[in-house]
Amino acid sequence: RAKSDGGNGWRFFTPEHDRRISVVRSMESDLRGALSRGEFTLNYQPKFCLVTGRLTGAEALLRWTHPAKRPISPADFIPVAELSGLIVPIGEWVLATACEALTRLPADFRVAVNLSPVQFRRSDVAETVAAKLALSGIAPARLEVEITESLLLENNRATAGALEALKALGVTIALDDFGTGYSSLAYLCKFPFDTIKIDRSFVQTLETEPGSAAIVRAVVGLGRDFSLKVIAEGVETEAQKRMLLSFGCDEGQGYLLGRPMPLEALLQIATNADSR
Ligand code: C2E
Ligand code: MG
Ligand code: MG
Ligand code: MG
Repeated sequence: RAKSDGGNGWRFFTPEHDRRISVVRSMESDLRGALSRGEFTLNYQPKFCLVTGRLTGAEALLRWTHPAKRPISPADFIPVAELSGLIVPIGEWVLATACEALTRLPADFRVAVNLSPVQFRRSDVAETVAAKLALSGIAPARLEVEITESLLLENNRATAGALEALKALGVTIALDDFGTGYSSLAYLCKFPFDTIKIDRSFVQTLETEPGSAAIVRAVVGLGRDFSLKVIAEGVETEAQKRMLLSFGCDEGQGYLLGRPMPLEALLQIATNADSR
């Protein structure tokens, strides 16, 4: 019976663990050719000033459309790309594509790109960023890189050096998903951040969990004391937006305000906002 399910049907009888390994292996081999086959695209999720409602920039989010399958979530394929090291060339493509997009966007528009810890470990990411900036000719201050706390946890000199080198280029640095995992407040003085992104998990429970409101308020206060911009991710309701505004949070990003969209759609809202 299992065999008639198809060529790999027998795997039904192997333990879940083996099945997962084979899923990862086959995804890895698909990912290997995905760049050259042009299967990646970037979507851009807008960021807004909560006070004025002004569009301030966007975050580039990677999309992979496997020809034989439905679009695969970055949450599923980024870990595989990281394990295999493929995130290095893929990340270079993301940087190049985001810089190219910036050349078509208004001059005060900023784009953020997510960087994986593996790009820091396995490549000279500051050098890559410098090369893409030079190639596109965009002002470095228009590019933001988003990193997560897991990178800082490794606590090595090379990472600190790369962050300083990025900073020296003139790009800005955001600490993504702040408050999850291994947050250490010491990171805020130790590394040259410009922006804190409050994790979606706190925003989503703002109305239901008093603890979340307290955390968000505290992070906004930290941002003020450290002169960092604070942005909330995952804003889905008017009530969340109102609370964030009342706490003094600078910017917001989320389905309520704008979904991730193709560049053409972003160009439309960015140029409309420009002419207002
Ligand atoms: P992230 O950087 O924290 O990005 C935010 C994620 O939340 C995105 O998911 C976005 O689509 C989603 N999101 C935004 N607003 C809302 C909302 O209101 N509600 C909900 N439920 N979700 C919202 P996405 O695009 O699936 O990306 C997931 C993660 O994959 C990203 O988390 C980031 O860590 C990683 N990622 C995406 N693109 C890249 C990339 O180019 N390079 C690397 N290294 N990682 C990437
Ligand atoms: Mg991000
Ligand atoms: Mg995030
Ligand atoms: Mg997140």
